[in-house]
Amino acid sequence: MAEVLIPTRLSPEGVAILNDTPGITVDFRPGLKGAELLEAIAGVDAVIIRSDSTIDAAVIAAAKRLKLIGRAGVGVENVDLTAATARGIAVLNTPAANSIAVAELTMAMMLALTRKLVPADRSTKEGRWEKSAYAGHELLGKTLGLVGFGRIGHEVAKRATAFGMTVIAYDPFITEAAADAARIKLSPLPELLQTADVVSLHLPLNDKTRGLLGAAQLGSMKPSAFLINASRGGIVEEQALRDALVAGKLGGCGLDVFETEPPTDHWFAGMDNVIVTPHLGASTAESQTKVAIEIAETVRDALTSGIFRNAVNLPLHDASDLPRLLPYVHLAEQLGLLLRGLEDGPCSSLTLELGAQTVGEAKLVVAAALKGFLALETDSQVTLVNALQIADERHIRVPVIDQASQASLNAFISLEGSFGATKRTVSGVVDNNTMPRVRQIDEFTIDIAPTGRVLIFTNRDRPGVIGAVGAFLGQANINIASWVQGRRQPGGTALGIVTVDDPVPDPVLRELSKLPNMGRITEVNWGDSAKA
Ligand code: NAD
Repeated sequence: MAEVLIPTRLSPEGVAILNDTPGITVDFRPGLKGAELLEAIAGVDAVIIRSDSTIDAAVIAAAKRLKLIGRAGVGVENVDLTAATARGIAVLNTPAANSIAVAELTMAMMLALTRKLVPADRSTKEGRWEKSAYAGHELLGKTLGLVGFGRIGHEVAKRATAFGMTVIAYDPFITEAAADAARIKLSPLPELLQTADVVSLHLPLNDKTRGLLGAAQLGSMKPSAFLINASRGGIVEEQALRDALVAGKLGGCGLDVFETEPPTDHWFAGMDNVIVTPHLGASTAESQTKVAIEIAETVRDALTSGIFRNAVNLPLHDASDLPRLLPYVHLAEQLGLLLRGLEDGPCSSLTLELGAQTVGEAKLVVAAALKGFLALETDSQVTLVNALQIADERHIRVPVIDQASQASLNAFISLEGSFGATKRTVSGVVDNNTMPRVRQIDEFTIDIAPTGRVLIFTNRDRPGVIGAVGAFLGQANINIASWVQGRRQPGGTALGIVTVDDPVPDPVLRELSKLPNMGRITEVNWGDSAKA
Protein backbone atom coordinates (compact mmCIF):
# COMPACT_ATOMS: atom_id res chain seq x y z
CA MET A 1 0.00 0.00 0.00
CA ALA A 2 1.41 3.43 -0.92
CA GLU A 3 0.36 6.41 1.20
CA VAL A 4 -0.04 9.92 -0.21
CA LEU A 5 -0.27 12.98 2.05
CA ILE A 6 -2.06 16.04 0.64
CA PRO A 7 -1.55 18.91 3.13
CA THR A 8 -3.16 21.50 0.82
CA ARG A 9 -6.51 22.39 -0.74
CA LEU A 10 -6.00 20.36 -3.92
CA SER A 11 -9.04 20.41 -6.26
CA PRO A 12 -11.34 17.41 -5.51
CA GLU A 13 -10.87 16.01 -9.03
CA GLY A 14 -7.20 15.36 -8.24
CA VAL A 15 -7.91 13.82 -4.81
CA ALA A 16 -10.53 11.51 -6.38
CA ILE A 17 -8.03 10.09 -8.90
CA LEU A 18 -5.77 8.91 -6.08
CA ASN A 19 -8.65 7.72 -3.88
CA ASP A 20 -9.91 5.60 -6.78
CA THR A 21 -6.55 3.90 -7.38
CA PRO A 22 -6.24 0.45 -5.76
CA GLY A 23 -3.04 0.22 -3.72
CA ILE A 24 -3.02 3.94 -2.81
CA THR A 25 -4.40 5.50 0.37
CA VAL A 26 -4.81 9.26 0.72
CA ASP A 27 -4.40 11.44 3.79
CA PHE A 28 -6.14 14.68 2.70
CA ARG A 29 -5.44 17.33 5.36
CA PRO A 30 -5.48 20.85 3.87
CA GLY A 31 -3.62 23.44 5.91
CA LEU A 32 -1.32 21.00 7.71
CA LYS A 33 1.88 22.76 8.79
CA GLY A 34 4.68 22.78 11.38
CA ALA A 35 4.96 19.90 13.87
CA GLU A 36 1.78 18.26 12.54
CA LEU A 37 3.21 18.19 9.03
CA LEU A 38 6.48 16.71 10.32
CA GLU A 39 4.54 13.98 12.09
CA ALA A 40 2.18 13.21 9.22
CA ILE A 41 4.88 13.06 6.56
CA ALA A 42 7.01 10.58 8.49
CA GLY A 43 5.21 7.49 7.21
CA VAL A 44 4.06 8.45 3.69
CA ASP A 45 5.46 7.52 0.26
CA ALA A 46 4.39 10.70 -1.52
CA VAL A 47 3.26 14.22 -0.73
CA ILE A 48 1.36 16.58 -3.01
CA ILE A 49 1.70 20.32 -2.40
CA ARG A 50 0.77 23.66 -3.97
CA SER A 51 2.55 26.96 -3.40
CA ASP A 52 1.22 27.22 0.19
CA SER A 53 3.30 24.33 1.63
CA THR A 54 7.05 24.29 2.16
CA ILE A 55 9.05 21.10 1.97
CA ASP A 56 12.40 22.17 3.40
CA ALA A 57 15.35 20.10 4.60
CA ALA A 58 13.75 19.56 8.04
CA VAL A 59 10.55 18.18 6.49
CA ILE A 60 12.58 15.94 4.18
CA ALA A 61 14.63 14.68 7.11
CA ALA A 62 11.40 13.76 8.91
CA ALA A 63 9.97 12.01 5.82
CA LYS A 64 11.59 8.64 6.28
CA ARG A 65 9.71 6.76 3.52
CA LEU A 66 9.15 9.61 1.07
CA LYS A 67 9.83 8.76 -2.59
CA LEU A 68 7.90 11.50 -4.37
CA ILE A 69 7.05 15.17 -3.97
CA GLY A 70 4.32 16.26 -6.37
CA ARG A 71 3.95 19.99 -6.98
CA ALA A 72 0.58 21.04 -8.41
CA GLY A 73 1.98 23.89 -10.53
CA VAL A 74 5.32 24.76 -12.07
CA GLY A 75 7.57 26.56 -9.54
CA VAL A 76 9.43 24.32 -7.10
CA GLU A 77 11.06 27.10 -5.08
CA ASN A 78 9.13 25.90 -2.00
CA VAL A 79 10.92 22.52 -2.15
CA ASP A 80 14.51 22.02 -1.04
CA LEU A 81 15.58 20.32 -4.28
CA THR A 82 19.11 19.63 -3.09
CA ALA A 83 17.91 17.86 0.03
CA ALA A 84 15.29 15.92 -1.96
CA THR A 85 17.79 14.86 -4.63
CA ALA A 86 20.35 13.84 -2.06
CA ARG A 87 17.69 11.53 -0.60
CA GLY A 88 16.73 10.20 -4.05
CA ILE A 89 13.25 11.72 -3.72
CA ALA A 90 11.81 12.61 -7.11
CA VAL A 91 10.17 16.02 -7.37
CA LEU A 92 7.47 16.14 -10.05
CA ASN A 93 5.55 19.16 -11.37
CA THR A 94 2.97 20.08 -14.03
CA PRO A 95 4.64 22.34 -16.61
CA ALA A 96 1.99 21.96 -19.34
CA ALA A 97 -1.16 22.49 -17.30
CA ASN A 98 -1.04 26.29 -17.70
CA SER A 99 -0.46 26.41 -21.45
CA ILE A 100 -4.10 26.74 -22.49
CA ALA A 101 -4.78 29.49 -19.93
CA VAL A 102 -1.85 31.56 -21.25
CA ALA A 103 -2.78 30.86 -24.88
CA GLU A 104 -6.36 32.03 -24.24
CA LEU A 105 -5.17 35.20 -22.49
CA THR A 106 -3.01 35.89 -25.54
CA MET A 107 -6.02 35.49 -27.83
CA ALA A 108 -8.10 37.69 -25.50
CA MET A 109 -5.48 40.42 -25.74
CA MET A 110 -5.24 40.06 -29.51
CA LEU A 111 -9.00 40.43 -29.95
CA ALA A 112 -9.30 43.23 -27.40
CA LEU A 113 -6.50 45.21 -29.07
CA THR A 114 -7.74 44.80 -32.63
CA ARG A 115 -11.33 45.68 -31.62
CA LYS A 116 -10.35 48.45 -29.15
CA LEU A 117 -12.58 46.76 -26.56
CA VAL A 118 -11.17 48.37 -23.44
CA PRO A 119 -11.49 52.06 -24.45
CA ALA A 120 -14.80 51.37 -26.23
CA ASP A 121 -16.19 49.79 -23.05
CA ARG A 122 -15.08 52.73 -20.93
CA SER A 123 -16.46 55.33 -23.33
CA THR A 124 -19.85 53.58 -23.54
CA LYS A 125 -20.07 53.25 -19.75
CA GLU A 126 -19.32 56.95 -19.50
CA GLY A 127 -22.41 57.64 -21.60
CA ARG A 128 -20.84 58.25 -25.02
CA TRP A 129 -21.73 56.42 -28.26
CA GLU A 130 -18.55 56.66 -30.36
CA LYS A 131 -19.04 54.08 -33.09
CA SER A 132 -16.55 55.52 -35.57
CA ALA A 133 -13.83 56.18 -33.00
CA TYR A 134 -13.72 52.51 -32.09
CA ALA A 135 -13.92 50.81 -35.47
CA GLY A 136 -11.40 47.96 -35.41
CA HIS A 137 -9.74 45.31 -37.56
CA GLU A 138 -10.37 41.59 -38.16
CA LEU A 139 -7.85 38.85 -37.45
CA LEU A 140 -8.87 36.94 -40.60
CA GLY A 141 -6.06 37.07 -43.16
CA LYS A 142 -3.62 38.81 -40.81
CA THR A 143 -0.18 37.42 -39.96
CA LEU A 144 0.68 36.35 -36.43
CA GLY A 145 4.40 36.19 -35.63
CA LEU A 146 5.21 33.97 -32.65
CA VAL A 147 8.58 34.44 -31.01
CA GLY A 148 9.18 31.13 -29.20
CA PHE A 149 7.32 28.06 -30.40
CA GLY A 150 7.11 25.75 -27.39
CA ARG A 151 4.06 24.52 -25.51
CA ILE A 152 2.22 27.87 -25.33
CA GLY A 153 3.34 28.99 -28.80
CA HIS A 154 1.80 25.79 -30.23
CA GLU A 155 -1.53 26.42 -28.46
CA VAL A 156 -1.68 30.04 -29.64
CA ALA A 157 -0.91 28.90 -33.20
CA LYS A 158 -3.83 26.45 -33.17
CA ARG A 159 -6.25 29.12 -32.00
CA ALA A 160 -4.98 31.81 -34.37
CA THR A 161 -5.20 29.39 -37.30
CA ALA A 162 -8.86 28.81 -36.41
CA PHE A 163 -9.36 32.59 -36.74
CA GLY A 164 -7.94 32.41 -40.28
CA MET A 165 -4.58 33.98 -39.43
CA THR A 166 -1.33 33.03 -41.15
CA VAL A 167 1.09 31.92 -38.43
CA ILE A 168 4.85 32.28 -38.67
CA ALA A 169 7.32 31.63 -35.84
CA TYR A 170 10.87 32.43 -34.88
CA ASP A 171 12.40 29.76 -32.67
CA PRO A 172 16.05 28.94 -33.31
CA PHE A 173 15.71 25.56 -31.63
CA ILE A 174 12.71 24.21 -33.53
CA THR A 175 13.22 22.00 -36.58
CA GLU A 176 11.39 22.35 -39.90
CA ALA A 177 9.80 18.95 -39.16
CA ALA A 178 8.26 20.26 -35.92
CA ALA A 179 7.04 23.40 -37.71
CA ASP A 180 5.56 21.33 -40.57
CA ALA A 181 3.80 19.09 -38.03
CA ALA A 182 2.18 22.22 -36.55
CA ARG A 183 1.42 23.60 -40.05
CA ILE A 184 3.25 26.86 -39.54
CA LYS A 185 6.29 28.41 -41.22
CA LEU A 186 9.53 29.27 -39.46
CA SER A 187 10.95 32.71 -40.14
CA PRO A 188 14.06 34.65 -39.13
CA LEU A 189 13.29 37.22 -36.42
CA PRO A 190 13.90 40.38 -38.56
CA GLU A 191 11.49 39.19 -41.28
CA LEU A 192 8.91 38.12 -38.71
CA LEU A 193 8.98 41.56 -37.10
CA GLN A 194 8.66 43.30 -40.46
CA THR A 195 5.74 41.21 -41.73
CA ALA A 196 3.60 40.31 -38.71
CA ASP A 197 0.42 42.23 -37.87
CA VAL A 198 0.56 40.79 -34.35
CA VAL A 199 3.80 39.69 -32.66
CA SER A 200 3.39 37.50 -29.58
CA LEU A 201 6.21 36.39 -27.29
CA HIS A 202 6.35 32.85 -25.85
CA LEU A 203 9.99 32.23 -24.96
CA PRO A 204 12.02 32.00 -21.75
CA LEU A 205 13.87 34.92 -20.19
CA ASN A 206 17.59 34.25 -20.06
CA ASP A 207 20.89 35.96 -20.92
CA LYS A 208 20.22 35.50 -24.64
CA THR A 209 16.63 36.74 -24.66
CA ARG A 210 16.86 39.65 -22.20
CA GLY A 211 16.18 42.82 -24.24
CA LEU A 212 15.63 40.76 -27.42
CA LEU A 213 13.16 43.42 -28.57
CA GLY A 214 14.74 46.86 -28.19
CA ALA A 215 14.30 50.13 -30.07
CA ALA A 216 15.69 48.81 -33.39
CA GLN A 217 13.51 45.68 -33.40
CA LEU A 218 10.36 47.56 -32.34
CA GLY A 219 11.14 50.21 -34.95
CA SER A 220 11.23 47.55 -37.67
CA MET A 221 7.65 46.44 -36.93
CA LYS A 222 4.68 47.73 -38.93
CA PRO A 223 3.36 50.96 -37.37
CA SER A 224 -0.06 49.31 -37.21
CA ALA A 225 1.23 46.11 -35.55
CA PHE A 226 0.38 44.93 -32.03
CA LEU A 227 2.86 43.36 -29.63
CA ILE A 228 1.77 40.90 -26.92
CA ASN A 229 3.98 39.73 -24.07
CA ALA A 230 2.55 37.04 -21.79
CA SER A 231 5.90 35.30 -21.37
CA ARG A 232 8.39 37.07 -19.09
CA GLY A 233 9.12 40.74 -18.41
CA GLY A 234 12.52 41.91 -19.62
CA ILE A 235 12.38 40.24 -23.04
CA VAL A 236 11.03 43.55 -24.37
CA GLU A 237 12.85 46.71 -23.29
CA GLU A 238 10.00 48.56 -21.61
CA GLN A 239 11.45 52.05 -22.15
CA ALA A 240 11.93 51.36 -25.86
CA LEU A 241 8.36 50.03 -26.05
CA ARG A 242 7.02 53.12 -24.36
CA ASP A 243 8.99 55.36 -26.75
CA ALA A 244 7.74 53.41 -29.80
CA LEU A 245 4.13 53.73 -28.62
CA VAL A 246 4.46 57.45 -27.87
CA ALA A 247 6.05 58.02 -31.30
CA GLY A 248 3.21 56.12 -33.03
CA LYS A 249 5.60 53.45 -34.33
CA LEU A 250 3.38 50.65 -33.00
CA GLY A 251 -0.37 50.04 -33.10
CA GLY A 252 -0.49 48.99 -29.45
CA CYS A 253 0.48 46.28 -27.04
CA GLY A 254 -0.79 43.81 -24.45
CA LEU A 255 1.41 43.13 -21.43
CA ASP A 256 0.82 40.47 -18.78
CA VAL A 257 4.41 40.60 -17.53
CA PHE A 258 6.80 43.42 -16.64
CA GLU A 259 10.46 44.12 -16.01
CA THR A 260 9.52 44.73 -12.36
CA GLU A 261 6.43 43.08 -10.87
CA PRO A 262 4.35 44.77 -9.70
CA PRO A 263 5.50 47.66 -11.93
CA THR A 264 6.64 50.76 -10.08
CA ASP A 265 6.33 53.11 -13.07
CA HIS A 266 2.79 53.09 -14.49
CA TRP A 267 3.85 54.65 -17.80
CA PHE A 268 0.99 52.88 -19.59
CA ALA A 269 -1.75 54.65 -17.58
CA GLY A 270 -3.83 56.71 -19.99
CA MET A 271 -2.67 54.85 -23.12
CA ASP A 272 -5.80 53.53 -24.83
CA ASN A 273 -3.84 51.22 -27.13
CA VAL A 274 -2.13 49.39 -24.25
CA ILE A 275 -3.74 46.57 -22.25
CA VAL A 276 -2.06 45.53 -19.02
CA THR A 277 -2.87 42.62 -16.67
CA PRO A 278 -1.20 41.56 -13.39
CA HIS A 279 0.58 38.35 -14.55
CA LEU A 280 -2.76 36.59 -15.00
CA GLY A 281 -1.64 34.11 -17.66
CA ALA A 282 -2.12 30.96 -15.60
CA SER A 283 -4.94 32.28 -13.39
CA THR A 284 -8.03 30.34 -14.39
CA ALA A 285 -10.24 28.03 -12.36
CA GLU A 286 -9.74 25.36 -15.00
CA SER A 287 -6.00 25.52 -14.80
CA GLN A 288 -6.22 24.91 -11.01
CA THR A 289 -8.33 21.82 -11.70
CA LYS A 290 -5.98 20.77 -14.47
CA VAL A 291 -2.87 21.01 -12.31
CA ALA A 292 -4.66 18.93 -9.63
CA ILE A 293 -5.61 16.22 -12.12
CA GLU A 294 -2.20 16.26 -13.79
CA ILE A 295 -0.24 15.99 -10.55
CA ALA A 296 -2.52 13.25 -9.22
CA GLU A 297 -2.05 11.23 -12.41
CA THR A 298 1.70 11.83 -12.41
CA VAL A 299 2.07 10.72 -8.78
CA ARG A 300 -0.24 7.74 -9.35
CA ASP A 301 1.80 6.56 -12.38
CA ALA A 302 5.10 7.00 -10.55
CA LEU A 303 3.83 5.01 -7.55
CA THR A 304 2.10 2.25 -9.48
CA SER A 305 4.26 1.80 -12.61
CA GLY A 306 7.54 3.60 -11.92
CA ILE A 307 6.95 6.09 -14.76
CA PHE A 308 8.40 9.44 -13.69
CA ARG A 309 6.87 12.20 -15.83
CA ASN A 310 7.96 15.81 -15.41
CA ALA A 311 10.53 15.09 -12.73
CA VAL A 312 12.60 18.21 -12.07
CA ASN A 313 15.37 16.33 -10.26
CA LEU A 314 17.00 12.96 -10.39
CA PRO A 315 15.24 9.79 -9.26
CA LEU A 316 18.07 7.54 -8.16
CA HIS A 317 17.17 3.96 -8.99
CA ASP A 318 20.71 2.74 -8.32
CA ALA A 319 22.11 5.42 -6.08
CA SER A 320 25.20 3.36 -5.33
CA ASP A 321 26.56 3.75 -8.89
CA LEU A 322 26.04 7.51 -9.09
CA PRO A 323 29.26 8.65 -7.40
CA ARG A 324 31.30 6.66 -9.98
CA LEU A 325 29.26 8.10 -12.85
CA LEU A 326 29.27 11.73 -11.74
CA PRO A 327 32.46 12.77 -13.61
CA TYR A 328 30.98 11.26 -16.80
CA VAL A 329 27.66 12.99 -16.18
CA HIS A 330 29.57 16.23 -15.76
CA LEU A 331 31.62 15.69 -18.94
CA ALA A 332 28.51 14.85 -20.98
CA GLU A 333 26.72 17.97 -19.74
CA GLN A 334 29.69 20.21 -20.51
CA LEU A 335 30.02 18.66 -23.98
CA GLY A 336 26.31 19.39 -24.55
CA LEU A 337 26.79 23.01 -23.51
CA LEU A 338 29.83 23.26 -25.79
CA LEU A 339 28.05 21.77 -28.80
CA ARG A 340 25.09 24.16 -28.40
CA GLY A 341 27.55 27.04 -28.09
CA LEU A 342 29.27 26.05 -31.33
CA GLU A 343 26.11 25.80 -33.43
CA ASP A 344 22.86 27.62 -32.75
CA GLY A 345 20.57 26.27 -35.49
CA PRO A 346 17.81 23.69 -34.96
CA CYS A 347 19.15 20.24 -34.11
CA SER A 348 17.45 17.09 -35.43
CA SER A 349 19.67 14.50 -33.77
CA LEU A 350 22.37 14.18 -31.17
CA THR A 351 24.36 10.96 -31.55
CA LEU A 352 26.38 9.76 -28.56
CA GLU A 353 29.29 7.33 -28.71
CA LEU A 354 29.89 5.80 -25.31
CA GLY A 355 32.71 3.64 -23.99
CA ALA A 356 32.48 0.76 -21.52
CA GLN A 357 32.39 2.99 -18.44
CA THR A 358 29.06 4.57 -19.34
CA VAL A 359 27.25 2.57 -22.00
CA GLY A 360 25.42 0.53 -19.35
CA GLU A 361 23.96 3.80 -18.02
CA ALA A 362 23.48 5.35 -21.45
CA LYS A 363 20.19 7.06 -20.57
CA LEU A 364 21.74 8.96 -17.71
CA VAL A 365 24.63 10.14 -19.90
CA VAL A 366 22.33 11.05 -22.79
CA ALA A 367 20.18 13.00 -20.34
CA ALA A 368 23.26 14.79 -19.05
CA ALA A 369 24.33 15.75 -22.58
CA LEU A 370 20.81 17.00 -23.30
CA LYS A 371 20.72 18.90 -20.01
CA GLY A 372 23.73 20.93 -21.15
CA PHE A 373 22.54 21.17 -24.74
CA LEU A 374 19.00 22.36 -23.90
CA ALA A 375 19.90 24.57 -20.93
CA LEU A 376 19.41 27.87 -22.77
CA GLU A 377 16.43 26.82 -24.87
CA THR A 378 13.63 26.59 -22.34
CA ASP A 379 12.38 28.06 -19.08
CA SER A 380 11.50 24.58 -17.89
CA GLN A 381 14.17 23.30 -15.57
CA VAL A 382 16.00 20.74 -17.76
CA THR A 383 17.24 18.00 -15.45
CA LEU A 384 18.67 14.54 -15.81
CA VAL A 385 15.20 13.17 -15.31
CA ASN A 386 13.20 15.25 -17.75
CA ALA A 387 15.83 15.94 -20.45
CA LEU A 388 14.94 12.89 -22.59
CA GLN A 389 11.27 13.80 -22.51
CA ILE A 390 12.00 17.40 -23.50
CA ALA A 391 14.23 16.21 -26.37
CA ASP A 392 11.42 13.97 -27.56
CA GLU A 393 8.91 16.83 -27.46
CA ARG A 394 11.38 18.88 -29.50
CA HIS A 395 11.85 16.10 -32.10
CA ILE A 396 15.54 15.66 -31.27
CA ARG A 397 16.61 12.03 -31.82
CA VAL A 398 19.33 10.70 -29.50
CA PRO A 399 20.85 7.50 -30.93
CA VAL A 400 23.67 5.86 -28.94
CA ILE A 401 26.63 4.02 -30.49
CA ASP A 402 28.04 1.35 -28.17
CA GLN A 403 31.85 1.49 -28.15
CA ALA A 404 32.26 -0.86 -25.19
CA SER A 405 34.27 -3.34 -27.27
CA GLN A 406 36.97 -0.70 -27.98
CA ALA A 407 39.31 -0.84 -24.99
CA SER A 408 40.93 2.48 -25.98
CA LEU A 409 37.53 4.19 -25.75
CA ASN A 410 36.77 2.93 -22.24
CA ALA A 411 36.28 6.40 -20.69
CA PHE A 412 35.26 8.14 -23.92
CA ILE A 413 32.12 10.20 -24.64
CA SER A 414 31.44 11.79 -28.02
CA LEU A 415 28.51 13.93 -29.18
CA GLU A 416 27.67 14.56 -32.81
CA GLY A 417 24.91 17.07 -33.52
CA SER A 418 23.05 17.26 -36.85
CA PHE A 419 22.07 20.83 -37.68
CA GLY A 420 20.49 20.58 -41.14
CA ALA A 421 23.33 19.53 -43.47
CA THR A 422 25.96 20.58 -40.92
CA LYS A 423 27.39 18.09 -38.45
CA ARG A 424 29.47 19.16 -35.43
CA THR A 425 31.35 16.82 -33.12
CA VAL A 426 32.78 17.28 -29.64
CA SER A 427 34.30 14.57 -27.48
CA GLY A 428 36.21 13.97 -24.29
CA VAL A 429 37.33 11.47 -21.71
CA VAL A 430 37.38 11.16 -17.94
CA ASP A 431 41.03 10.75 -16.93
CA ASN A 432 41.58 8.28 -14.10
CA ASN A 433 37.81 8.05 -13.73
CA THR A 434 37.86 11.43 -12.00
CA MET A 435 38.94 14.29 -14.30
CA PRO A 436 36.77 15.25 -17.28
CA ARG A 437 38.77 16.57 -20.28
CA VAL A 438 37.53 17.83 -23.63
CA ARG A 439 39.76 16.26 -26.30
CA GLN A 440 38.18 17.12 -29.63
CA ILE A 441 36.17 19.85 -31.34
CA ASP A 442 35.33 18.85 -34.92
CA GLU A 443 38.62 17.97 -36.63
CA PHE A 444 40.76 19.69 -33.98
CA THR A 445 42.54 17.77 -31.24
CA ILE A 446 42.81 19.71 -27.99
CA ASP A 447 43.02 18.99 -24.28
CA ILE A 448 41.18 21.21 -21.82
CA ALA A 449 39.27 20.81 -18.55
CA PRO A 450 35.65 21.93 -19.13
CA THR A 451 35.49 24.65 -16.49
CA GLY A 452 35.33 28.43 -16.60
CA ARG A 453 34.27 30.84 -19.32
CA VAL A 454 35.90 30.26 -22.70
CA LEU A 455 36.05 31.97 -26.06
CA ILE A 456 36.32 29.44 -28.88
CA PHE A 457 37.31 30.58 -32.36
CA THR A 458 38.80 29.40 -35.59
CA ASN A 459 41.51 31.44 -37.25
CA ARG A 460 43.91 31.22 -40.14
CA ASP A 461 47.18 29.89 -38.72
CA ARG A 462 49.35 32.95 -39.42
CA PRO A 463 52.06 34.62 -37.33
CA GLY A 464 50.73 37.33 -35.04
CA VAL A 465 47.12 36.14 -34.58
CA ILE A 466 47.59 35.02 -30.97
CA GLY A 467 49.38 38.27 -30.14
CA ALA A 468 46.65 40.37 -31.79
CA VAL A 469 43.83 38.55 -29.92
CA GLY A 470 45.73 38.85 -26.63
CA ALA A 471 46.40 42.55 -27.16
CA PHE A 472 42.76 43.21 -28.17
CA LEU A 473 41.34 41.47 -25.08
CA GLY A 474 43.89 43.29 -22.92
CA GLN A 475 42.73 46.64 -24.30
CA ALA A 476 39.13 45.64 -23.54
CA ASN A 477 40.28 44.94 -19.96
CA ILE A 478 39.54 41.22 -20.23
CA ASN A 479 41.98 39.02 -18.41
CA ILE A 480 43.11 35.79 -20.09
CA ALA A 481 43.45 32.85 -17.68
CA SER A 482 44.69 30.26 -20.20
CA TRP A 483 45.05 29.60 -23.92
CA VAL A 484 44.79 26.30 -25.80
CA GLN A 485 45.52 26.02 -29.51
CA GLY A 486 44.70 23.15 -31.89
CA ARG A 487 45.58 22.78 -35.57
CA ARG A 488 45.89 20.07 -38.16
CA GLN A 489 48.83 21.43 -40.11
CA PRO A 490 50.90 24.64 -40.02
CA GLY A 491 49.41 27.45 -42.09
CA GLY A 492 45.90 25.93 -42.27
CA THR A 493 42.91 26.60 -40.03
CA ALA A 494 43.55 26.61 -36.30
CA LEU A 495 41.22 26.48 -33.29
CA GLY A 496 41.82 28.69 -30.27
CA ILE A 497 40.23 28.31 -26.82
CA VAL A 498 40.86 31.22 -24.50
CA THR A 499 39.69 31.02 -20.89
CA VAL A 500 38.71 34.49 -19.66
CA ASP A 501 37.97 35.70 -16.14
CA ASP A 502 34.88 37.79 -16.95
CA PRO A 503 31.98 37.76 -19.43
CA VAL A 504 32.91 39.31 -22.77
CA PRO A 505 30.31 41.89 -23.89
CA ASP A 506 28.75 41.24 -27.32
CA PRO A 507 30.22 44.42 -28.92
CA VAL A 508 33.72 43.29 -27.88
CA LEU A 509 33.12 39.85 -29.41
CA ARG A 510 31.92 41.47 -32.64
CA GLU A 511 35.02 43.69 -32.85
CA LEU A 512 37.26 40.72 -32.03
CA SER A 513 35.81 38.73 -34.92
CA LYS A 514 36.81 41.57 -37.27
CA LEU A 515 40.54 41.13 -36.55
CA PRO A 516 42.49 39.82 -39.58
CA ASN A 517 42.48 36.02 -40.02
CA MET A 518 39.72 35.45 -37.43
CA GLY A 519 36.74 33.12 -37.99
CA ARG A 520 33.55 32.65 -35.94
CA ILE A 521 33.81 33.26 -32.19
CA THR A 522 31.65 31.56 -29.57
CA GLU A 523 31.50 32.14 -25.84
CA VAL A 524 30.72 29.13 -23.63
CA ASN A 525 30.31 29.32 -19.87
CA TRP A 526 31.19 25.97 -18.33
CA GLY A 527 30.86 27.35 -14.79
CA ASP A 528 33.09 26.67 -11.85
CA SER A 529 32.70 23.11 -10.74
CA ALA A 530 31.15 19.74 -11.39
CA LYS A 531 27.43 19.43 -10.83
CA ALA A 532 25.03 16.52 -11.27
P1 NAD B 1 8.48 26.12 -23.54
O1 NAD B 1 9.74 25.82 -22.86
O2 NAD B 1 7.56 25.01 -23.90
O3 NAD B 1 8.76 26.96 -24.90
C1 NAD B 1 9.67 28.04 -24.96
C2 NAD B 1 10.15 28.13 -26.41
O4 NAD B 1 11.02 29.26 -26.55
C3 NAD B 1 10.98 26.90 -26.83
O5 NAD B 1 10.43 26.29 -27.99
C4 NAD B 1 12.36 27.46 -27.12
O6 NAD B 1 13.01 26.80 -28.20
C5 NAD B 1 12.05 28.89 -27.47
N1 NAD B 1 13.20 29.77 -27.34
C6 NAD B 1 14.24 29.68 -26.47
N2 NAD B 1 15.12 30.68 -26.70
C7 NAD B 1 14.63 31.39 -27.74
C8 NAD B 1 15.09 32.53 -28.45
N3 NAD B 1 16.24 33.12 -28.14
N4 NAD B 1 14.33 33.01 -29.46
C9 NAD B 1 13.16 32.41 -29.80
N5 NAD B 1 12.69 31.31 -29.17
C10 NAD B 1 13.41 30.82 -28.15
O7 NAD B 1 7.74 27.18 -22.60
P2 NAD B 1 6.19 27.55 -22.56
O8 NAD B 1 5.51 26.68 -21.55
O9 NAD B 1 5.65 27.64 -23.94
O10 NAD B 1 6.28 29.01 -21.92
C11 NAD B 1 6.66 30.13 -22.71
C12 NAD B 1 6.85 31.35 -21.82
O11 NAD B 1 5.65 31.67 -21.13
C13 NAD B 1 7.91 31.14 -20.74
O12 NAD B 1 8.67 32.32 -20.59
C14 NAD B 1 7.08 30.95 -19.49
O13 NAD B 1 7.82 31.32 -18.34
C15 NAD B 1 5.93 31.91 -19.78
N6 NAD B 1 4.72 31.66 -18.99
C16 NAD B 1 4.00 32.76 -18.60
C17 NAD B 1 2.85 32.59 -17.82
C18 NAD B 1 2.05 33.78 -17.40
O14 NAD B 1 1.39 33.69 -16.38
N7 NAD B 1 2.03 34.86 -18.16
C19 NAD B 1 2.44 31.30 -17.44
C20 NAD B 1 3.17 30.20 -17.89
C21 NAD B 1 4.32 30.39 -18.66
